[in-house]
Amino acid sequence: MGREQQTYKSTNVILFYNIKNKLQQNIIMVERQPQALSVLDIMRSQVEYMDMCDCRSGEKVIYKCDEEECPNFIKQKLYCSRCMVKTKHNHIPTHIAIESQNTSDDWNTLRQNAKSLVDNLVAFVELHRRFLEALDRYLANEDQRFMKKLDMSKELLTGIENFYKENVNDRAVRGDILGLQTLRNDFSEFKRRLEQLEFLIKIGPAALWRLYNGIIQQVGTHQILENYPSHSCEVFLFLKSYLLCIKINELEDRLTQSAVAQIQALQQKFEEVKAELLVAREEQQLERNQNLNRIEQLTLKMKSINSVILDDETKQRKMFTFFEQAGTPLMQSHLLYRGTISTFAAAEFHKLCDNRSKTLTIVRTTEGIIVGGYTSQFWNSTSSYKVDPTAWVFNLDQPNIFKVKPGGNNAIYANNDRGPTFGCGHILYIANTANINTCGYVNQSASYENLENINLFQRQGTTQFQVTEVEVFQV
Ligand SMILES: [Zn+2]
Ligand SMILES: [Zn+2]
Repeated sequence: MGREQQTYKSTNVILFYNIKNKLQQNIIMVERQPQALSVLDIMRSQVEYMDMCDCRSGEKVIYKCDEEECPNFIKQKLYCSRCMVKTKHNHIPTHIAIESQNTSDDWNTLRQNAKSLVDNLVAFVELHRRFLEALDRYLANEDQRFMKKLDMSKELLTGIENFYKENVNDRAVRGDILGLQTLRNDFSEFKRRLEQLEFLIKIGPAALWRLYNGIIQQVGTHQILENYPSHSCEVFLFLKSYLLCIKINELEDRLTQSAVAQIQALQQKFEEVKAELLVAREEQQLERNQNLNRIEQLTLKMKSINSVILDDETKQRKMFTFFEQAGTPLMQSHLLYRGTISTFAAAEFHKLCDNRSKTLTIVRTTEGIIVGGYTSQFWNSTSSYKVDPTAWVFNLDQPNIFKVKPGGNNAIYANNDRGPTFGCGHILYIANTANINTCGYVNQSASYENLENINLFQRQGTTQFQVTEVEVFQV
């Protein structure tokens, strides 16, 4: 199984995005630096500014002493070619022109990198401003925000450019190597600040992940897909998929074979969605309405419940309708428990679902009847009825949900010895190992509306049942 997991590595996503970016020519080329002058040219241009050597030879200094062991390391920092003798500087000389050139190159690289950073961020913001601002609002730490990073980058570029003009440029032209040397700390400080922002140069999902990984779970997929342009939704989907990859990799050892199959199916679906996105990008001339349709389809795909019981679009749509009837439209759902993945033992259900509020239970009986219920209450307890004014139960074949009576008394009955159980009496009782025993039942009861005189299967009295599947989702 370990090897199959490889396919979920987030690098797939990065590669995909990069390739696509290239297709779109969204990558901003780093400006080419001017052609470097030859050392000889530099020497010629510098020599007129150079000082005379203190040895009175009448020659200008062209070397710098960097040998700490040298007796003249301090006394004669700069020297002429005549002083390059055994008694004075008995070592390989450092050429001022070359060192000066290297220092200028370092500064120019720094300036260039700062400029590329700002250019790339500005281009990215033009495309995604509203989306980035939306994500930023979720970040508690203001320094972590994208817009803040953009400001910091602009500020840094201005700082570097001003400093360069005022302190570096003139010294570089004159080959004032000692003067340039005194600016080393400033250089290191600018470089350090740039390095902290440099991960943003290749701006895209991978870089954004560094800013937003802590909050991406809180941001509703549904909301983003409806409110932002497709190119932003795309970035967002990539961020979400990272989260998914990470979670799946964490779960690696605990996943059963059927779970792996499920994940692979979902991944396949996601690949299809990605392919669709690619097509969508290539057809940029599409009418706006066509684009909106595509997003709507995507939204539906992202919204669908990962249920093996609701195995077609009609059943899925029905469940969404039920949530709308309850006044709480379904935004997202997350599978907590499935009988055929775990076991049908009550203990297994409680292990995975206790301490989770807002759960949807879906059951399919051996007769093929699909029923279940929603509660915002927790399922953990040794034995107690719980109040939940938001609870409801359903039969997928019925047009409407059955809401708990006002006040929500006896909405659910939580007990370690059984699965999810709704209502006094009970309205819906899923027994321990409900796949093999027939203790579980539906019954008429006064706890829920319209079920006083007929049970959830729309039959009189009590009907016992066995199940072929039980699923519980956090919604
Ligand atoms: Zn000399
Ligand atoms: Zn020396």
